[in-house]
This record gives sequence, structure tokens and C-alpha cells, in this order.
Amino acid sequence: MLSRGFLFLYCNKQGYRIKYFQSRPAMKYILGIDWGGTYIKSGLVDDKGKIVSKEVFASTGLKKRDIFVGKLHSLVSALGGKIKAVGIGAPGIINSKDGFIYYLPNVPGWENYPLKKVLRQKLKLPVFIDNDANIFALAEARLGAAKDVERAIFLTLGTGLGGAVILNGKILEGETSASELGHVPIDLKGKRCNCGGRGCIETFVGNKYLLDRYNKLKKQKTRIKEVSHIFKKALTGEREALMVWREFSKALGMFLSGMINVFNPQIIIFGGGVSGAFKVFKPLVTQQIHEQAMWPQVKGLKLVKAKLKDAGIVGAAILAKENL
Ligand SMILES: [Zn+2]
Repeated sequence: MLSRGFLFLYCNKQGYRIKYFQSRPAMKYILGIDWGGTYIKSGLVDDKGKIVSKEVFASTGLKKRDIFVGKLHSLVSALGGKIKAVGIGAPGIINSKDGFIYYLPNVPGWENYPLKKVLRQKLKLPVFIDNDANIFALAEARLGAAKDVERAIFLTLGTGLGGAVILNGKILEGETSASELGHVPIDLKGKRCNCGGRGCIETFVGNKYLLDRYNKLKKQKTRIKEVSHIFKKALTGEREALMVWREFSKALGMFLSGMINVFNPQIIIFGGGVSGAFKVFKPLVTQQIHEQAMWPQVKGLKLVKAKLKDAGIVGAAILAKENL
């Protein structure tokens, strides 16, 4: 049996010829892009949210706008017609309706950039963009730890602190799509933050700040570059490593208490690279919350680790699927 296509009939004096033109193969997949501070992950996702193939790139090589757009173009071209849409979770302040980037706090050079418009022209495909934390929340709400939950708070702990709030089953959005939880100030005299403000919670719990604090406490010549090292050392009972996680948990617990008092969440979900240390910081953060937050707001609250392995890729694909 012939697959989808059409027949063409040539006629001339000598006779006729039939040619069968096969149409393009069915476009089944969505390309989901998880744009993080350290890595950019790209995955081909099917309609059920399953990743069928995945590629990972270092973010440093794709910081410039033209290079980023060129990379997406080559990814889409290489997949030759298999893709029906592209979904992107970007690390910054975005108008998700227009796919317009106001700015990316940790990636300079992207100010006021109409990424969706540029990509639609270049890729000739529908493109959908949202803040990376909203994307993570969307994936966990549809397929992960917050399925059927009315009120939830999501944190992505990595280079920075991303966050999203689900209220009445929906992601809380303003004109700029994200709830910029990482830039809630908790210290009047705190450090300068990449957002331009001072004393944001991100400056206490971001990857870079944890490493700086640990290296300062250790006073070693060789700097530690991986947060997982501080996690492993804490498990062996090392004093400096435990101190870093205690300070981290105190700041995070104070910040979350504020969120809990405002939103009364049923669940708080921790994702991102730093959440690898969840076992170490969960009891400390819980203790801080119980000391600080108003007790009726905390009743029944659960603190859990994100369930999905590649929530960034899957969530980006869900965003595209739901908006197609
Ligand atoms: Zn900030």
C-alpha cells in the first residue's frame, strides 16, 4: 500500500507516464529546549511526553544570540521534517505570549530580543517560549510530583534560583510570565545580585554563592568547582560543608516561610542541580519553616524532590503541545 502522497499523470503523443510523489513524512515530534545556565538540553518529545532522543550542549558556547539561533536552526534541519513545533524554556524575564525576552539575568546581550519572531522566520515552525521555571512547573504539574495539586511552589536550584507558583491549578503569571522567586530580597544589606537588586535569596542559594562560601571556609589553594563535592563532604560530616548547607537552609527556610504565609501551598517541589543535596538540606529547611512560618499555613505541607528526570525538555514540549 502506498503511503500518503499524490499521483501525477504526464501525457504526450508517445503515451503517458505516472509518477508518484510522496508527501513529507508525518511530523510527529516536538523539539523541547531546556536552556540552563550551565547546559542547554535539547530533546525530541512524542505526544505522550516521552523523550525519544536527547542532546546536551555547554551553555557557554551558545551565549550569543546569533550562535544560539544558528544552533537551533541546524538541530531542526538535521531532524528533517520530523518536528511539528519547538518549545523553549529560557532563563529570564519573558513575555510568553509574544516570546519576547526582556532580559536574562545570567546571560548578557539578550536585552529586548524578539526570540519567538526570529525563530519562526528562521525555522518556519511554530515556536513557544516561556520562563524555564514555569516550564519545569508545567511538566511537574502535568506528569510529575504536582499532578492534581491545587497550590504548589516550584524551585529550580542551580546557577540561580528559579521559581513558579501554581494557584488554583494554574501557573501564576503576570505580563512577564515568571514569578521571579529567586529575586525576593531577604537581606537589607545583602550582596548585589545579577538582577540589579540587593540581598535576593538567589545570592544565598545559587551555585556560585555556595561554592564561594565553601572555598572561603576551606581556605584551600585549589578552588572546588562542583556543588556535588560540598554535598558529598557533608555526608561524611565535614564541618565546613555542613556549615554551608546550614546557612543555605536557614536562608531558604526563611524565604520559603514567606512564600508559605502568602500562598499556603500543599507541596513544595525542589528541582535543578543543587537539589541533588536534598537529603542533606530537607530536614534543615523543614526545621526553619516550622520555626518561622505561621502554623496553620504549614499544616499538611510536603517538601519533595522533583519527579521528572528531564522536566525542562518535557515541559517545553508540553508548552508547545498545549498552545499548538
Ligand atoms: Zn536578584
